[in-house]
Amino acid sequence: MCGIVGYTGHRDAYPVVIKGLKRLEYRGYDSAGVALHEKTLRVYKKMGKVADLEEHAVGKDISGKTGIGHTRWATHGEPSDRNAHPHLSSSGKLAMIHNGIIENYAQLKKELTQKGYEFKSDTDTEVLLNFIDEIKQNNSCSLEEAIRVALKRVTGAYVILLLDAENPDTIIAARKGSPLVIGVGKGEHFLGSDASPMLEYTKEVVYVNDYELAIVKPDELILKNLGNEKLTPYVQKLDIELAAIEKGGYDHFMLKEIFEQPRTIYDCLRGRLDASKNKITLSGIEQYAKEICAANRIIMIACGTSWHAGLTAEYIFEECCRINVEVEYASEFRYRNPIINPGDVIIAISQSGETADTLVAIENAKAKGAIILGVVNVVGSSIARMSHAGAYTHAGPEIGVASTKAFTAQLAVLSMIALKIAQLKGTLSAERINTLLNELEAIPEKVESILANTEPIKKIAQQYATARDFLYLGRGTNFPVALEGALKLKEISYIHAEGYPAAEMKHGPIALVDENLPVVFVATKDSYHEKVLSNMQEIRARKGKVISVITEEDETAANLSESVMQVPPCDEMLAPLLTVVPLQLLSYYIGVARGCDVDKPRNLAKSVTVE
Ligand code: GLU
Repeated sequence: MCGIVGYTGHRDAYPVVIKGLKRLEYRGYDSAGVALHEKTLRVYKKMGKVADLEEHAVGKDISGKTGIGHTRWATHGEPSDRNAHPHLSSSGKLAMIHNGIIENYAQLKKELTQKGYEFKSDTDTEVLLNFIDEIKQNNSCSLEEAIRVALKRVTGAYVILLLDAENPDTIIAARKGSPLVIGVGKGEHFLGSDASPMLEYTKEVVYVNDYELAIVKPDELILKNLGNEKLTPYVQKLDIELAAIEKGGYDHFMLKEIFEQPRTIYDCLRGRLDASKNKITLSGIEQYAKEICAANRIIMIACGTSWHAGLTAEYIFEECCRINVEVEYASEFRYRNPIINPGDVIIAISQSGETADTLVAIENAKAKGAIILGVVNVVGSSIARMSHAGAYTHAGPEIGVASTKAFTAQLAVLSMIALKIAQLKGTLSAERINTLLNELEAIPEKVESILANTEPIKKIAQQYATARDFLYLGRGTNFPVALEGALKLKEISYIHAEGYPAAEMKHGPIALVDENLPVVFVATKDSYHEKVLSNMQEIRARKGKVISVITEEDETAANLSESVMQVPPCDEMLAPLLTVVPLQLLSYYIGVARGCDVDKPRNLAKSVTVE
């Protein structure tokens, strides 16, 4: 979850590393630190954000052409100066940063303590570092060799970057289960948790795989496996522009990303969908057409917002493809010995493509003979590489921690996959498919029209910004949207919010309703509409404040609501692509009204690379 940066080359490392850390701050941000090397090895670290670290480094020696940097998302030990990375080994000769968790750190710590080691932090990272240093000193071997030996004893997930006081221009890196990208420049190399820290210097990158070790010098990149065999680095060309990861005049990345959705949905559909020809081109899916059509069930595996995309897709797939769909939390699925039959199709949904639980869940399912389709945003990410096939969401880099444009892009891709399968299996008529394809093509324009009228949403936000709790209700495809609306509000504003199927409300949550409770209904005109209107009446009868997302010109729903947010008419199958947008905006404006740091909500990290 944390951000990792490294540089070795002809530039001063400090500014490169600091800029890179700012790009990665969305990944974790409870403390930050750098280690710099030139003649001496120096470490500066500070609790707080990268800006706090910069302040701390003022007046200090920040020279050095080689450096590593880290923004932490604490797992072992509270956020504090002493737990911040980089850590220095007891000998003072090695500095290390780490993303992930060393699961058997307690055992290693015990062994080291018996040998007289003392620890300055509570982290698992410092334990691994000293374990490596101990092996290096005991065997008088190279750092590279010591890392290889140490990692054979380690369980857990990691990317580690090390500097050795005896070897000034070299960074040694290793990964298992957390992401690592190396940028290749002229006489310089960059390392990052993703490509954003290196974008302005190079577009040539190497994605390091699990159980690989990289020895990185200004002019040389050596890649090896843990068996000490040399591997040929596979250099790929990135097609992301720098502008895509900057704010572009918006106050926050989250707002920019909400407003990007007409474009990102369009980009996601472009070249894949042609309603005039009733055609959907998804080469990854076509490659496995036979197996997908023969499958008895599809299991969607995801976490957080991506799980909501999966829940929405369940309605669409079951309706369009007449196939049994199960939607699973990756974290539960991976540990409960799930029944997977050869030929089952797994759809793994993840923005980053690095979500630790999803990654392991699909690894297990793959071993049992399932076909893995990946729906991910980050090209070249671990889930993308582990899947048999799939479709990228093409939403561009998402920096705001709370997912917005990645969610709608996931829905767009999943809808296309469902319609493609329906076409292949013949489970929907050509006319119905054509209607839905035309509807999908019209989505970007409809989202545009929602974004053109944000005033009513801002007003609602002002009015309810001090509420203590919120309830979100919806039925059918709008039920997962209610869950997503509640999640977004929690993430951004720290207001307690719950999502429920509107009918389920009577089985418990209704006890919460009084004149202080805002209840957000996702109540567009669909086959459940009459039922939802009755649910609104039930809330009103108990003095709850009804706020609703309704179809334009729906007088009846408007009359039952204190406040409304309107969306253009849309087929109910695809309505979530519209109804989620006002809810994203509502959370954003409430978060801003409450003075919250909406791009970096407390305790959250963008890419959850620990389980
Ligand atoms: N487990 C390490 C710690 O708590 C690393 C966490 C991270 O990935 O930021 O310091």
